[in-house]
Order: sequence, then C-alpha cells, then structure tokens
Amino acid sequence: MPVPYTSRMPAIGRFAPSPTGTLHVGNLRTALASWLSVKAKGGTWIIRIEDVDRARSRLAIVEEQLCDLAELGLESDGPLLFQSQRGDAYREGLERLLAQGQLYSCACTRKDLALLASAPHEEDGLKPYPGTCRWRTLEVLCPDALRFRLPQGSVAWEDTVLGFQEDDPGALTGDPLLHRRDGCYAYHLAVVVDDGFQGVTEVVRGRDLRPVTATQVRLQEALAWPRPAYAHLGLVAGGSGHRLGKRDGALGLQVLKAKGIAVQEILGWLGWSLGCTDRPQPCSAEELVPLFQWGRVPTGDIRIPAGWEQT
Ligand SMILES: [Zn+2]
Repeated sequence: MPVPYTSRMPAIGRFAPSPTGTLHVGNLRTALASWLSVKAKGGTWIIRIEDVDRARSRLAIVEEQLCDLAELGLESDGPLLFQSQRGDAYREGLERLLAQGQLYSCACTRKDLALLASAPHEEDGLKPYPGTCRWRTLEVLCPDALRFRLPQGSVAWEDTVLGFQEDDPGALTGDPLLHRRDGCYAYHLAVVVDDGFQGVTEVVRGRDLRPVTATQVRLQEALAWPRPAYAHLGLVAGGSGHRLGKRDGALGLQVLKAKGIAVQEILGWLGWSLGCTDRPQPCSAEELVPLFQWGRVPTGDIRIPAGWEQT
C-alpha cells in the first residue's frame, strides 16, 4: 500500500519546467498555484529543471524562465535540481526495479509505437503501450529501451482540484518507458525519483498530465516513495479558446510587459484566475498568499483576457 504524506509534515512543493521554450501564461499560473499552496502552509517551494532530454534543453532558456519567475516573486527556496545531473539516481531506481523483476527491454521501433512514448504532455496523443515485449526478461541493466511492468488494477486518488479520481494505468499509458535507446532516462522515471528524493508532498500541474498520474503512482509504489497529493489545474486557453501550448511561448511575461501590461496586473489576473479575489486587481505574489484556498480554485479551463492575445 502507498504511504501517504500526513498533514503534519512540512509542505514541499515544486515547479519543474522543461527548458525548451518560454513559459506561457498557463505555465506561470501553475507555478504561482504551487507556490501559493506551500507558502500558505509555511512550506518550501523548489524549482527543478526538467532537462532530462538534453538534446532539446537550452541553458539560456533556463535563465530566461528563472528570471520570469523571479519577476513574479517566485524564487526557489533550495538549490536548483538539474535532471541532467541526476543520472546516478535514475540508474539506481532502475537497479531496484530490475532486482524486483519489474523491468524488461523493449525492441519496438518508434514506427511500431506511433511515437507514443515521446509525448507525455499531450493528452490527445496518449496511446497505451500494447505490451508487445512484456514476455521478455532482463538479467542485467542494458542500454536498450527499458519498460516498467505495471501491476494490474486501477489506482485511486483524491485530487486536490478534481476530487476523487480513478484510472487504470494499463489502459492509459501501458507499461511506461523508463530508459530510452538513445541513453536518456525517460520522463516518468525522472519525475518519480526526483519527487521522492526531494520529499515533495504536493504536485501541482496542468490537467494535461492527469492521465499519467496513475502510472507515476505505480512507479512510486514500486520504488517505495511516499505518494504526494496531486492537484491538476484546468488549462489556460487563448482568446479564441485554443489551449496554450509550446507554440504559445510568445505569450509569456516579457511579451505581455511589452504590451504595457504591468507585472502586478498579470499577478492580479493570475490570482483572480485561482480564486484568490472576486475580480482581477494589481497585486504582488506575497499579497495573494493569505487569500489562496484550494477550495476556491476553479476546476475548469480559463481564458486569458482579450487584450493579452498576441497580434
Ligand atoms: Zn516493445
């Protein structure tokens, strides 16, 4: 059985951006929500750089993202953790799964899988791995593509935003890829090992990642890490109703400022969008702390103000 964190333990939250593009309004809202949630409890907030995919990560983007967050008043309470430097920890995680007989090598090509493993952030592109190589056994760690053999059955959790949730990870992701043939450790392994290592008690993220939660819980259980609380926020949509994605990086802090929208105004809108106030009014992040309550955070998607849309 998973070991849940108790409310008596200090709250530790994290924001874990991938340094592959500018943080858009939706990313900033997630960062602010995770920060407010732990600050309201007197807890600790840490920034983790999800640069496990080194080929797509850029140091200049790390700096840009940190500057944008700092301008909002959101700074890491502890040292930054770079996933690109965590190879030993991820390898140890794999060794533990190997010893339990829960790893196998996967010989499927990308064509076989229709690129499913590379898109953990895209709900629409999520297809379960069909288990083609599940019969294989593994004696020693090898540089192959390695998958985690999911135990059967569904996973239930009380989502801080969405309420009771229950998913069958086998039907959503299938056995997740933990190590890629190109030598990179995969997203699910890195996120679960790092959350455990950093003692993260609450994970706040966009609802696009809700479908991978059950899979990550199974991995936590296998690695004997406690289960954090999960809060899946509604997504931020552009003025025309489309969901903000990587390509909307241009709708970031600097672009909004260049349009004459002050940082305090942006914070006021973000705070209002998280239920802190009845209407958007300029403020600092600090001023939002006593106003933040999870029970007031809306569950649905939210549209940015008409004047913010890029022209
Ligand atoms: Zn396979």
